[in-house]
Amino acid sequence: MALRIGHGYDIHRTEKGRPLVLGGVRFEADFGLLGHSDADCVTHAICDAFLGAAGLPDIGHYFPNTDPSLAGIDSQVLLRQVIAALHAHGWAPVNLDASVQAERPRIAPRLADMKAALSLATGLPVAAIGLKATTNEGVDDIGRGLAIAAHAVVLIESK
Ligand SMILES: [Zn+2]
Repeated sequence: MALRIGHGYDIHRTEKGRPLVLGGVRFEADFGLLGHSDADCVTHAICDAFLGAAGLPDIGHYFPNTDPSLAGIDSQVLLRQVIAALHAHGWAPVNLDASVQAERPRIAPRLADMKAALSLATGLPVAAIGLKATTNEGVDDIGRGLAIAAHAVVLIESK
């Protein structure tokens, strides 16, 4: 059995009046993330980690931000398609671990909800999904609340 590791990173600017969706969960906030889809940077980082692990092109290749049919799309739909592509190439997810960098709102109370959403989209058991949230201690643009970023690492195995 072959194992592969993948890494993903994503960042989106914050903007007033947009919905805030992180890890497939809608947050109560007076701002959201700017992007062509729902701009869920956590899910995008996870998509790129899975694609990278399988040696496939990145999320922008599969879901270009010039495609009008993807405007405002739920990124869990994209993640489901990434997992389908993974299986089509003979790979299956083993686990995933992601970190969110957000000055606000508080992410920790919703981590269990995010894990449940990501479990549904990936087919992974909740116990195989790691999620952490951290502020940026007021440092740089993330610390000033101008953006939210996410890192993800995944393991996949050959089927
Ligand atoms: Zn993104």
